[in-house]
Amino acid sequence: MLKRFRKNKPDQQVLKKRQHGINKAEISQAACEIVKHLSENGYEAYVVGGCLRDAIMGLHPKDFDVATSATPEQVVKLFPRSRIIGRRFKIVHVRRGRELIEVTTFRGHHESGGGKHAQQAKSGLLVRDNVYGDLEADALRRDFTCNSLYYDPQKELLIDRCNGVADMRNGILRTIGDPWDRFCEDPVRMIRAVRFEAKLGLALDEASQEALEQNRHMMQEVAPARLFDEMIKVLMQAHALDAFNMLYDTGLFEQLFPGPFDALENGPDYLFEMMQLAMRNTETRIAEDKGVAPFFLYSVLLWPAVKIHYDEFIERGIAPADAMRQAGDIALQRQVQRITIPRRFSTSMQDVWFLQTALERITPKRAARTAEHPRFRAGYDFLLLREEGGEQLNDLGQWWTDYQKANPQQKSQMVNQKSGGNSDGKRRRRRRPRGKGGNQGNSSE
Ligand code: ATP
Ligand code: MG
Repeated sequence: MLKRFRKNKPDQQVLKKRQHGINKAEISQAACEIVKHLSENGYEAYVVGGCLRDAIMGLHPKDFDVATSATPEQVVKLFPRSRIIGRRFKIVHVRRGRELIEVTTFRGHHESGGGKHAQQAKSGLLVRDNVYGDLEADALRRDFTCNSLYYDPQKELLIDRCNGVADMRNGILRTIGDPWDRFCEDPVRMIRAVRFEAKLGLALDEASQEALEQNRHMMQEVAPARLFDEMIKVLMQAHALDAFNMLYDTGLFEQLFPGPFDALENGPDYLFEMMQLAMRNTETRIAEDKGVAPFFLYSVLLWPAVKIHYDEFIERGIAPADAMRQAGDIALQRQVQRITIPRRFSTSMQDVWFLQTALERITPKRAARTAEHPRFRAGYDFLLLREEGGEQLNDLGQWWTDYQKANPQQKSQMVNQKSGGNSDGKRRRRRRPRGKGGNQGNSSE
């Protein structure tokens, strides 16, 4: 109780360079110039939020935000290459050279705005929130103490009203104010909590952890359109596996991906193993500065549900390509009720799933066509993940690895061998292979 009281009355703290340790060179020049220009025009302005947190934690920040007392309209007047965006929160995008800086006006407490600008549903969910305030109010409106930091680049001072620096140094991720209220106001903060815990190696404070577990069902109140990017941010990061496991263990994954969750809980172990491997691969790719395609990540996340439906359709005698198409449709339809998946992504996801059946049907005609499919690489990587996860596919991944390296003559030999001279594309029966897991309906006939 005492702790809660203290949290609601954060100390005002201004830290000098030797106390906060931020190296100004880590902070975008563009953001510093924007702050300077705003100050010269009589507004209060600071570099704010996540970039300071990252700099203090020894990471190299990438995006930079500025908070100011100027309204969006006033900001736009000062910067020629800027525009107002956003409905939920009005923010200004200011371009400077190649950089894009987000400039937000200090936000006040939603209760002080009333009617038109702030709206709260009965559940506590904040529907609209565009009330302006001062730095003090803005600091308290932010999600976690480590994100409530304000940096004056000219004086190199850090305003830390919520003791975020101390919390970070103690390894704590702490919600500002009452965690229960803050998570209900905006349940996306629960996903952000997991993201920062994994990314920064912090642990959520006990009260926030409990509030998260008790309010995870609130995730269902979030507009599905907000969640697509949020999931990418939490899972496409250097600590993807930790993040996935935390989402799973806190029950957030179940809320966000009910279909895949059911399949993971009730289906074969290799589905879970594949998911873990995919997260580890993401980590490796990020460490090597290689990108991860969001459609690939989502095709992995939905796969358990797709696979369960697919196996059912195969059991009912439906042809593999049709079975996969229908299984994909069902999994997607259920998923988009929680998370909007833009069509350009779902089309590629369907391609990756469809390729799983194409990769299994090796005939002289089909093999070359499959290898030329625009999503072949993703489909092949996906196949490797399935096998590495423990699904029995008769070394199909290795076959395709060899196929890609082979010359045209070798390719045709390989295909003939694999299809047993069967060029008509009909599937042949073969004895079920023995061993772990048996034939999972995916033999490479
Ligand atoms: P990163 O840029 O690494 O994704 P970030 O913390 O900068 O992390 P942004 O989404 O860029 O995240 O948000 C900028 C700042 O705005 C945050 O640091 C935080 O102070 C505040 N903020 C963002 N989302 C919320 C939210 N849902 N509730 C309260 N404050 C938020
Ligand atoms: Mg940011």
